Amino acid sequence: MKYALVTGGSRGIGRAVCIKLARMGYHVLINYASRAEEAQKTLELVREAGQDGEILPFDVCRHEQVCNAIDEWEKAHPGEYIEVLVNNAGIRSDSVLAFMPDKDWHRVLEVTLTGFYNVTQAVLQPMLVRKYGRIINMASVSGLKGQPGQTNYSAAKGGLIAATKALALEVARKQVTVNAVAPGFIETDMTGDLDEASLKNIIPLLRFGRPEEVAELVGFLASPQAGYITGEVVSINGGLHT
Ligand code: NAP
Repeated sequence: MKYALVTGGSRGIGRAVCIKLARMGYHVLINYASRAEEAQKTLELVREAGQDGEILPFDVCRHEQVCNAIDEWEKAHPGEYIEVLVNNAGIRSDSVLAFMPDKDWHRVLEVTLTGFYNVTQAVLQPMLVRKYGRIINMASVSGLKGQPGQTNYSAAKGGLIAATKALALEVARKQVTVNAVAPGFIETDMTGDLDEASLKNIIPLLRFGRPEEVAELVGFLASPQAGYITGEVVSINGGLHT
């Protein structure tokens, strides 16, 4: 059995990634923070895709919760390990910096950066011992070019890109690859409040992307065929930023 963990697998891009990884033959560990019924729906879709999965609830920001969940999973699966980790959980809380509430700065950085640290550290060691692993971090075009109204989100995603490059160099000799994906506008709950009809006019491909399109890219980076790609940031943004 091959295992993959997707943080924020309950909805949006994370759900599409869970389904893609199931189609690739992975038993998928679906993480979520608060929407249990959505995680359950993802599990049903994973089963429809022909594989089994399980739900692993934890808040990626909470070190103890993450460690307990991974420890328990490892105890229940002796000799097995998580060979693919997709750090996908993310939030946005937009406002211009001058008026940004403290909590919005801290929470966005915590979910993205502390979340990356907590979950990656918890699953990394067995990848190094087995000399095979794939880590894919969900960054954003905002982390590459910066976005007004998103200083917190841009900082978090830019930091995640830097962490991707640093970790890739640390673990390369153990044949573990670490890459980031940088989507532009993708149709999910996260972009549900945006004016798609006008925003699509600034996108060269004249449309928002679909979660399944991002999942195809993640699936490739998670595959053995992507074994010579590491420390990269791959954009998927309809030409919005090149
Ligand atoms: P979404 O539909 O809002 O889903 C967010 C997911 O993250 C949910 O599964 C949510 O779980 C989970 N999550 C949030 N906080 C968490 C926490 N503390 N611990 C564990 N899970 C948590 O968002 P999305 O659009 O699919 O975005 C997925 C990733 O892609 C994010 O990192 C986002 O920044 C990035 N991204 C999205 C876009 C876009 O246009 N949509 C563009 C660039 C990058 P619950 O269901 O339990 O709340």
